[in-house]
Amino acid sequence: MQKSFIPTQKINELLEQSKQPSKQQVEEILAKSKSKQRLEMAETAALLNLQDPELLQKIFTTAHELKEEMYGNRIVMFAPLYVGNECVNDCVYCGFRISNKNCFRKTLSKEELINETQALEKRGHKRLIMVYGEHPMYSPEYIADTVHTVYNTKIGNGEIRRVNINAAPMDVEGYKVVKDIGIGTYQIFQETYHEPTYKKIHPSGPKSDFLWRLYGLDRAMQAGIDDLGIGALLGLHDWRFEVMGLLAHTIHLEERFGVGPHTISFPRIEPANGTDWADNPPAPISDEDFMKLVAIIRLSVPYTGMILTAREPAEIRNKIIPLGCSQIDAGSSIGIGEYSQNDKESFKKSQFILGDQRSLDQVVRELCQAGFLPSWCTACYRLGRTGENFMKYSKPGDIKSFCHPNAILTFSEYLIDYATPETKKVGLAMVEREIAKIPASFRGEVEKNVEKLKNGERDLYF
Ligand code: SAM
Ligand code: SF4
Repeated sequence: MQKSFIPTQKINELLEQSKQPSKQQVEEILAKSKSKQRLEMAETAALLNLQDPELLQKIFTTAHELKEEMYGNRIVMFAPLYVGNECVNDCVYCGFRISNKNCFRKTLSKEELINETQALEKRGHKRLIMVYGEHPMYSPEYIADTVHTVYNTKIGNGEIRRVNINAAPMDVEGYKVVKDIGIGTYQIFQETYHEPTYKKIHPSGPKSDFLWRLYGLDRAMQAGIDDLGIGALLGLHDWRFEVMGLLAHTIHLEERFGVGPHTISFPRIEPANGTDWADNPPAPISDEDFMKLVAIIRLSVPYTGMILTAREPAEIRNKIIPLGCSQIDAGSSIGIGEYSQNDKESFKKSQFILGDQRSLDQVVRELCQAGFLPSWCTACYRLGRTGENFMKYSKPGDIKSFCHPNAILTFSEYLIDYATPETKKVGLAMVEREIAKIPASFRGEVEKNVEKLKNGERDLYF
């Protein structure tokens, strides 16, 4: 019988003991983060308890600086693609739960999946996260088949170069099937690391088994998928506990497999169709605490990618991104079939309601105006820089030296093929500024590739 690797009692004790961290203690912890070392549980607990406005400001500044050192000003862009909302679970917060009679059930046919993919490609997307409810219909073979369809669907210069997955945990054999088709990250959110709360809000179905889900990514690793995403759904239990849970999960993966999570997600619960529970979750996190949480995750696990989704409205995203986020979705639709059809009833096929409804073009333009470099790079996973191999580069912060030129190339591709004239103007000026930052010895190489893109070549990367 497996035991939980979340040390619930120790987490509570650490959060209690470190209530008054001294200035010196906090400064030592921040220096450790700046040296790109992952924090220990006691150190993160001390940061979580901070109240002093001056020290809090230091946390925000250090998180921002650390993100700049690890990832530069680049933000990776993706879009979610919801494939089907059949579900056998009854998660109280989700519009897809089995008992929600208001949910219009829908699974894309192959033709509809192709239409959705082409609609995304026509807007310039290259990276997707494909999302599925939990249902016997969505077997590993089915998931692999839908990923295969997406990879094989192209239109004009459009193609999807990386598919990440957010689906139910599988057994080892199942993961092998999806690994073989060539996926990027396999993402599973634990929702809450607090077991008693978990049990209350997942009353039935396979998801009610806390340990099956907790060890879900261990089994993925055993199947050879070393590119994993963890996450907690905020609003279910005290957010400080969830940060400690995410860190405990990270440490567990590092200790057992030598590889920590490729990404960490921290979605806040949003209102959902036919799901009053989601309007008043038991432990909502304020915007101020949300900023703290993001900065503390960045400081605690310096090497990890951090995902901020369009669940959050634009104003919040603008504040949160600089604190350490490295990936965002944009131009997202979460109604099933919504990218290719204008369906007034799509809300009923949606899992929850999106806060940021801007188009991809608008988000890209606004990111540039704020000094961020949008990237659609997929080089690492296509060149086998994942898992231990990825950690080799990302832990010391070297990842930036590949990513920056690749971001410039994929951004240039976007500007040439998809941007509106206004975005193109802002973007091309940004490309020039970014090229100037590349060391002289390598700059010519990047300029040559940008020229090749202007002459019609595509998919160039280092
Ligand atoms: N069915 C699979 C599962 O539960 O792991 C994967 C897909 S599920 C649609 C993806 C994630 O959506 C869940 O893990 C949960 O964290 C999140 N989610 C569910 N309801 C939500 C809500 N009301 N607001 C924000 N996120 C929600
Ligand atoms: Fe189903 Fe996932 Fe929604 Fe739970 S969160 S009801 S498992 S789709």
